[in-house]
Amino acid sequence: MSERGRPGDIGGTAPRPPAGGARLLLSRLRSLMADTAPEPQRLKRVVELTANTMVADVCSIYMRHEDSSLGLIATEGLSQEAVGRTRLAENEGLVGLVSSTARPLRLTDAFSHPRFSYRPETGEDPFHSFLGVPILRSGRVLGVVVLQNRTERAYDDEEVEALQTIAMVLAELVAAEAEAQSANGRSSRPIELEGRVLNEGVAMGPAHLYDPVVPPARLFASDPEVEERRLNRALEALRQSIDAMLSRAGPVLFGESRDVLETYRLFAHDPSWEARLREAVRSGLSAEAAVDRVRREHRARLASARDNLMRERLHDLEDLENRLLRQLAGLDGDERRALPKGSVLVASRIGPAELLEYRDAGLAGIVLEEAGAGSHAAIVARAMGIVAIGAVEGAVTRAEDGDLIIVDGENSVVNIRPGPELVQSCVSRIALSDEKLAELSKLRDKPARTLDGQDMELFINAGLSFDLNHLDDVGAKGVGLFRTEFQFMTAERMPGIEDQAAFYRAAIDRASDRPVVFRTIDLGGDKIAPFMGRSEREENPALGWRALRLALDHPYFFRRQLRSLIRAAGGRTLRVMFPMVATVEEFEAARSLLDDELEWAVKFDRELPQKLQVGAMVETPSLAFSIPALARRADFISVGTNDLMQFFFAADRDNTRVSARYDLLSRPALRLLAKLRDDAAAADLPVTVCGEAAGRPLEVVGLMALGYRRLSMQAGRVAPIKQLVRSIDISQIEPVLRELIAQPGPTTRPELLRIIQAQGVRI
Ligand code: PEP
Ligand code: MG
Repeated sequence: MSERGRPGDIGGTAPRPPAGGARLLLSRLRSLMADTAPEPQRLKRVVELTANTMVADVCSIYMRHEDSSLGLIATEGLSQEAVGRTRLAENEGLVGLVSSTARPLRLTDAFSHPRFSYRPETGEDPFHSFLGVPILRSGRVLGVVVLQNRTERAYDDEEVEALQTIAMVLAELVAAEAEAQSANGRSSRPIELEGRVLNEGVAMGPAHLYDPVVPPARLFASDPEVEERRLNRALEALRQSIDAMLSRAGPVLFGESRDVLETYRLFAHDPSWEARLREAVRSGLSAEAAVDRVRREHRARLASARDNLMRERLHDLEDLENRLLRQLAGLDGDERRALPKGSVLVASRIGPAELLEYRDAGLAGIVLEEAGAGSHAAIVARAMGIVAIGAVEGAVTRAEDGDLIIVDGENSVVNIRPGPELVQSCVSRIALSDEKLAELSKLRDKPARTLDGQDMELFINAGLSFDLNHLDDVGAKGVGLFRTEFQFMTAERMPGIEDQAAFYRAAIDRASDRPVVFRTIDLGGDKIAPFMGRSEREENPALGWRALRLALDHPYFFRRQLRSLIRAAGGRTLRVMFPMVATVEEFEAARSLLDDELEWAVKFDRELPQKLQVGAMVETPSLAFSIPALARRADFISVGTNDLMQFFFAADRDNTRVSARYDLLSRPALRLLAKLRDDAAAADLPVTVCGEAAGRPLEVVGLMALGYRRLSMQAGRVAPIKQLVRSIDISQIEPVLRELIAQPGPTTRPELLRIIQAQGVRI
């Protein structure tokens, strides 16, 4: 077994024989649940029943409130006076500890624990032993259920398991109680959450949770043996589907991808995981509820896990459990749910490949809990032209499938279940932005020329076939960056030479006489193709084995792509560039593989491109300082500011905590960009900027003032940028910016803004 470990390592306690007590308890709980008494009474009966069955002096339930404090809502054994009165702050006491870690806690002597907090009103003085279990639902901690005993009692694994099962049943009751206590009930309360804009605009639509945690339809089994058989069948089907994935995996692009799938298979066959599921079924839960119970624990622990490796393992397990639930529901393991057009996708995190699966789904918006503006998920969202907001904490747990959501990419907020006024204003804003778009489209055939007569060339970034339709819509000069990895990321199997060539050929045809610059595959890091499996997590994926590094280590696959490109461009101009080049030698190595492929084409009498241009993406500071040497070998360069800035500032573009901290318009970054452009000009090397900065107005002013004249951006940005270009006098800004960056000081952003505002430009 690889270091990824076995599920049992994090799955909790060792398997136990089926608990007769737990089964009895469950059957009593079942009749309680069927009871129609009001919630507080039912909760009271649950605590009585639990205390009796589990021979505890105390059983209490604490409910977590919106502010994360924990209120006592039912107890057997503590003073009834304390119910509704005792409220523990977030993290206060042992109950707070269970809630914040989302894990069970058992102590023989609670008093000696440093987190013990004494509440006189509860009368809990004489209780020594403590067992607390989180009440989890949809990955959220709803509260805590606690057992206490006077004696110093050591609760055993079986008791912890039994209390966890009770907590699962309680989750439904506590959720109902929480709704009853909130004024309008949870599902109708409007909520506003802040985030970071990944793609501008305003959109509204029903929420579609990417990975919803649906409470099982049935909690209890009428016949545990039947449930066990259902579980067995589902497990078998799950294993078969994983075996099928394994057999589909070849040819293997990555050394370890097979390892990863193998590891995945081991997870599915892990006896301790299976035993936990089986035990839950034998205790009287339905098969779905049993899987759900085990999954809740993993999900909650995932929320608090910091360690990357641990997170990956928990994700693996959760993924397996989700697949198993789909099997039980009779759905094919890989099937994505259908969603109505105009939906808003809500996810905690999503990889670019998974997001691409939604390319034809007609999404209106995307809301992500993770992902920074420079992340590839954000880039895919922009490529798909969908309004998106990232870093929206709590979106997944607050929104429910079908809730109306406004994705306000102008004010960086997400409104869940907005009130009628907000909806009305959103409708008018959407209409307004449609009008604005119509206005901008009039610029399509106008030149991108500044007031002082400087011509700019504006290209689009593409990667999906429908991107190319935008070439005409926005009147772009061509495709400045064609991300070829998108084809790989959306393919179940490695695309063959003819598949690749057909795709590239279609792009060249579609662009007709306009240039298309193909960037060779930039996979690795967070960009993983389905047929690769998920690669072993590297410590620093952005700095790791990705893009050209990976391609050079796999010349067989790389040469297939180069061969496809040559084939596609027969008789026409082929423009190719390599991503993440760190040294001139790497560029030369890639270029010589391209030469080999050209020779191969000559030898086999294939039609050659009529002209060839080979460039490098400047995405590493080391290459930015190698321009004179590079110019002797390359025909052009393209500055990938997304990666270049992440490496320059040592700030992960995918990590929302650091990605927005540094500014491309700060002096050190502009000095680097100025040197880069001056070195390129001195060597007569054409240069384009194709990172996201090329589509941001103030950054564009900065880049133009440094002398950059070719920009490649998301299609949706071309018209607004053209409008900006046409309204400024760049000759006035150039000397000011050059002078600013020659001096020490903070970001030039306010200065640039002031200058263009003085020119009457609003951005
Ligand atoms: C970049 O890094 O700026 C770039 C354009 O490449 P990608 O965003 O695809 O990494
Ligand atoms: Mg890049």
